[in-house]
Amino acid sequence: MTYRHRDLNGRVIDLPVGKVVCVGRNYLLHIQELNNALPDKPLLFIKPSTSLATLSEPVEIPLDLGACHNEIELAVLISSPLKKASEQQVSDAIWGYGLALDLTLRDVQDELKRLGQPWERAKAFDGSCPLSPFVLKSDIADQQNVSFSLKVNGQERQQGNSQDMLMSINALLSEISQTFTLLPGDVVLTGTPKGVGPLFVKDRLDIELNSLFTITTEVK
Ligand code: ZN
Repeated sequence: MTYRHRDLNGRVIDLPVGKVVCVGRNYLLHIQELNNALPDKPLLFIKPSTSLATLSEPVEIPLDLGACHNEIELAVLISSPLKKASEQQVSDAIWGYGLALDLTLRDVQDELKRLGQPWERAKAFDGSCPLSPFVLKSDIADQQNVSFSLKVNGQERQQGNSQDMLMSINALLSEISQTFTLLPGDVVLTGTPKGVGPLFVKDRLDIELNSLFTITTEVK
């Protein structure tokens, strides 16, 4: 099914489907688990609209390109343009929040890092960004205190809270908008907490946001 942004009731949100801007290394414990360096400014990359998929449908992973890792991330849906915006200006441009899987071909990425090449082959392939429905901004009391988790086959794999972000959501949106204009329907992924690991066909995934919703899906 063609991807559209949806609310918790399954209704299509009246926004186009755009690009996804992602930040790498926004949680300290995840930086440490991959032995990465602490960035002095955010590491940004983009997934195209063709990377989007509906999380509640089976998650398709590439089967012959090495390990495909889960990265569960808080996703921010943008509802009005942000260009060179200040931190104070970004709040009004947020429609709401959801969860994304930033699917990552880790072996491919390691090779790209070694060669000094861009990450798109590892992170921007078709279907590499399954997205949950979005909850309205007003349904979240404090965007810097949102908990989320991913269970794989009933076992907790990732547990995060936005209070542990190195760069807050508003600071991140402002920083992104200095380089990439964010348009209505664009989505920003805010980084993954620790607990990345390989996914396998038939894995069952339970994905929860702040007690607001749980989505159960499987890897195909
Ligand atoms: Zn990520």
